[in-house]
Amino acid sequence: MGLVSGYEVIAECTSKGMVAGSFNTTNLETTMGIAQAIENTGVPTFIQVAPTNAVLSGFEYIYDMVARRVASIDVPVALHLDHGRSLDDVRAALGAGFTSIMMDASAYPFEENIDLSIQAAQLCPAEVSVEAELGGIGGKEDDHGPERETATDPSQVADFVDKTGCDMLAVSVGNVHGFHPDARIDTDLLRAVQEASSVPLVIHGGSGLPHEQLGALAEYNVVKVNVATDLRMAMIRTFGEAYTANPNEYSLIRVSQSAVTAITEVVEERIRIFNPKF
Ligand SMILES: [Zn+2]
Repeated sequence: MGLVSGYEVIAECTSKGMVAGSFNTTNLETTMGIAQAIENTGVPTFIQVAPTNAVLSGFEYIYDMVARRVASIDVPVALHLDHGRSLDDVRAALGAGFTSIMMDASAYPFEENIDLSIQAAQLCPAEVSVEAELGGIGGKEDDHGPERETATDPSQVADFVDKTGCDMLAVSVGNVHGFHPDARIDTDLLRAVQEASSVPLVIHGGSGLPHEQLGALAEYNVVKVNVATDLRMAMIRTFGEAYTANPNEYSLIRVSQSAVTAITEVVEERIRIFNPKF
């Protein structure tokens, strides 16, 4: 099928009551692992990379790798820029062929966030979907330095969505980046945000939230859930265990293939947790 517009993944999921996982890649093994899980489940999905994780490959290699792999998958997959922090990030991802972008100007005051989100959207061709963020999502993963955690204010949502014209809204409702066993979504707040938003919502920090909450997100018009930490840990753990078991291990390809399998298992499990009815 090849890469599709982010709009197609959003439309497929919202029409069927599905939630798209949005999985961060960094390299070939992660990409192959994610793609296999998409084939196994048949659920429309975003594959994404943040600028901080593209410092080795650049956006072009990521695009080439993902586009080539999903060409043989009969499931809609979009390639998304995660946490674009500047208009240059957005330009670079669009130049490489990404089909969806996030402009994260949530660290700026409200009006500047709106202004930067509008400017980012104006850079995008008609088929590229735009995610913006309102409220600061806390926690730390390797993509992001410590941020101020600020809950999304429902009273700002309608105005923000209306003015930015964003297609998806990332919200801070108790979700945090990275793995935090105590993280919980404030479902009353999520409901208030949903009722104020004319566009579907995005939850970042999908590695650490309770499964029963993750399985109910479609009821809150959440269309996309980001997962990064779990995949990275699966890859690093595989290599660490291989070395511990045999410090003389020299078969890189064997360990790489084990990492792909481990990542597939993690991604497939997440997709099924997000979509318990499918
Ligand atoms: Zn995030």
